[in-house]
Amino acid sequence: MSVCNSVKIDQQSSELHFLRQTPKQWRESPEKPIVYAPKEETIFLSGGLTLLQDSLIEAALRSLGYHFIALPEPDFDAFRTGKAYGNKAQCNPTYFTVGNLVKYLIDLRDNHGISSEEIVRRYVYITAGGCGPCRFGMYITEYKKALRDAGFEGFRITSFDHEKGIFQGDDIETQLIDYTPSFFIRLIKAVVIGDLLNIAGYRMRPYETTAGATDAALAQCRALLSDAFLEGKSLPLTLLKARKLLNKVPLDRSIKKPKVMVMGEFWASLTEGDGNYGLYRFLESEGAECIPQPVLNRLMLSIWEAKEANEKRRLLPSDQTIDFSYAKTRFLVSLAKKAIEWHVKLYAKLLGIRYHLPDMDKLAELGKKYYTIECNGGEGHLEVAHLIEAVKEKLAHLVISVKPFGCMPSSGVSDGVQSLVTAHFPEANFLAVETSGEGAANFYSRVQMALFKAKEALKEEGA
Ligand code: SF4
Repeated sequence: MSVCNSVKIDQQSSELHFLRQTPKQWRESPEKPIVYAPKEETIFLSGGLTLLQDSLIEAALRSLGYHFIALPEPDFDAFRTGKAYGNKAQCNPTYFTVGNLVKYLIDLRDNHGISSEEIVRRYVYITAGGCGPCRFGMYITEYKKALRDAGFEGFRITSFDHEKGIFQGDDIETQLIDYTPSFFIRLIKAVVIGDLLNIAGYRMRPYETTAGATDAALAQCRALLSDAFLEGKSLPLTLLKARKLLNKVPLDRSIKKPKVMVMGEFWASLTEGDGNYGLYRFLESEGAECIPQPVLNRLMLSIWEAKEANEKRRLLPSDQTIDFSYAKTRFLVSLAKKAIEWHVKLYAKLLGIRYHLPDMDKLAELGKKYYTIECNGGEGHLEVAHLIEAVKEKLAHLVISVKPFGCMPSSGVSDGVQSLVTAHFPEANFLAVETSGEGAANFYSRVQMALFKAKEALKEEGA
């Protein structure tokens, strides 16, 4: 046998060996077809906003006849479950949120006696989807992988995608949710009310004279409003009752506290639990007043991005289709914006809260020197713009950006772009802090150091 032939045979046998070793191609759909429960028996699970918003959304959707359950706040157990069943090298929010769902289903199976088959047949998870500059575009696959490995192959996931709309899921054949105008209006109402009550809570809690009084009042407000959604009672009248409850909380506003704006990756900065080591409660316990980013900010950014993209369509060579589509999108975007503005204005007035939606054009103007505003996905230019706005308008003594471990976009912005911003605005007290789920002591000590500077700045103001 010639040398040439022997090399050829070696190559062929190693290719054959490789093919034999290659694992089976990953498929999201289950191997055996599953007969799912009809719509009336289906139970929807979701979560991921603030606790108040999740429970108001639960009531709002139940009032439309859906069996809807808001999952509990993801904790360290959820994180560990996510790590055990998820792919390696995922970002922190992926582990927490995927693990939270898997943990919940395991609990149903192991502690409540519902078989895996019954869980897969009846339950559906609703999540947010998105484009793929990061792992967000792969969330559904990640959920499916972890669920399959935990014994729930075929579990259905459906998602809202801010760019593509509603994705029912490849394995969801029937329309499980009627995405009607009343569905979206109730969702908006729940999100707006949740945001406003959260804002009220953050403004009141640091100044309460009786510990726990604000939380107790908020719990009563939540019960009243959930009841109003479920029973179809007047929301404006219920908000007036909520206002009375909040007004009863004794406050001492003579105490001055440093203001801390919290922003960063959407989920990591929004969650109120272990996902960011309970950052908000920690800051309050250390004597600060928190300024969170309401969910509405992210919603307004999506609307602003849709408007901008639509305006750019005009630059394309025009034909009838494009002109019609342009006008339709323009109308829908402006309708969505007006609906949110109207609800925010009315509900804030009824609750007695001073609050204005962010001016998205102004924020784009502030951010565009440092961040390409055409670059969509995640929080876009918002983080950069918020920091500049906070410094220029003296909105906060400290700005914290929560940066999940393993998140490349977040590192690019919070560590990369923001370094240039802080170089141009040296007066900024800015801290980008990582949440790995495993380094609480380091996290708290970095926050404490930045907060010390904020307290010094407050003293210099003569407080
Ligand atoms: S932005 Fe970062 S943390 Fe958030 S989903 Fe994407 S990769 Fe994960």
